[in-house]
Amino acid sequence: MGEFDLIKQFFVRQQGQDGVVMGIGDDCAVLAPTPGMQWLVSTDMLVEGRHFLPTVAPERLGHKALAVNLSDLAACGATPRAFTLALALPRADASWLAGFSKGLFALADAHGIHLVGGDTTQGPLNIGITVMGEAPAGAALLRSGAKPGDDVYVSGSLGDARLALEVFRGSISLPGEQFAQVRAAMECPQPRVALGQALRGVASSAVDVSDGLIGDLGHILQRSAVGASLEVDLLPCSAVLATQSLALKRECGLAGGDDYELVFTAAPGQRAAVQQAAEQSATPVTRIGRIEAAAGLRLLDAEGQALAHQFSSFDHFKS
Ligand code: ADP
Ligand code: MG
Repeated sequence: MGEFDLIKQFFVRQQGQDGVVMGIGDDCAVLAPTPGMQWLVSTDMLVEGRHFLPTVAPERLGHKALAVNLSDLAACGATPRAFTLALALPRADASWLAGFSKGLFALADAHGIHLVGGDTTQGPLNIGITVMGEAPAGAALLRSGAKPGDDVYVSGSLGDARLALEVFRGSISLPGEQFAQVRAAMECPQPRVALGQALRGVASSAVDVSDGLIGDLGHILQRSAVGASLEVDLLPCSAVLATQSLALKRECGLAGGDDYELVFTAAPGQRAAVQQAAEQSATPVTRIGRIEAAAGLRLLDAEGQALAHQFSSFDHFKS
């Protein structure tokens, strides 16, 4: 199977999708912007051994490669429109490609987003996706809008992906059914796209949790020039993580990574609106802390006592 047969067989679908003037097949894709909207663009790369284990099913990998990108659009409150796919493959393996494209397009279809181009080359397995979305001019959620007094919220639950990783590393073990659940959280994250859009005009800032809550909330604090206190034992966790020790729960919830939940801030006057956004998008949301003027992040336990912490979030170039 040659390069162009491969693209045609696994990645070209019907043309004439809305807003796509020219999709796959020319030197550029041509997209029509919706009047009054701004483009939001983001790229995320997945490298074998770094972002996923060789054991992951190709269908789940196709899902995850797009999911992590949609999560960035979600964090900005964007409506997904189109994406490109840069693929380095060790070989043209038809059954791998069939699984990968199945997972990829199932999620793409669920969000009404179209694959409009890409690049395909031979090499160590590496998947780069660029997503494009839209939001009304000036309405994108940014990291820079948090204000002292704002509430801090997180969607869904945190820490399951990290728990699964600990099982793969052999540091803990879980019963089969529990492992399947946390493994699905790690391999099949659900980007919070509907919540992000519902939070436009409600949240003052937002970020998605890819590298761990502390690190990603830290981006909001830095860009907004504020600090925060978090009530650590209020962090929402799954029934599986709830069975683990307090220390492991805190570690997974605060520093886990790969959660793809949204962390966002909103003025206390917006509590009802936040609740409404959560209901409208059928996404659970939990209030976990508050933004403060004093720089830095303070972690509090259930008694309001400060917690000493050395949790650090993931950094590719830190040893
Ligand atoms: P060029 O050489 O002009 O950059 P290519 O020959 O690499 O274009 O690709 C041919 C067409 O197929 C282009 O429209 C490109 O966007 C598309 N394409 C290549 N690889 C992929 C892929 N993995 N997924 C989707 N579209 C792809
Ligand atoms: Mg060209």
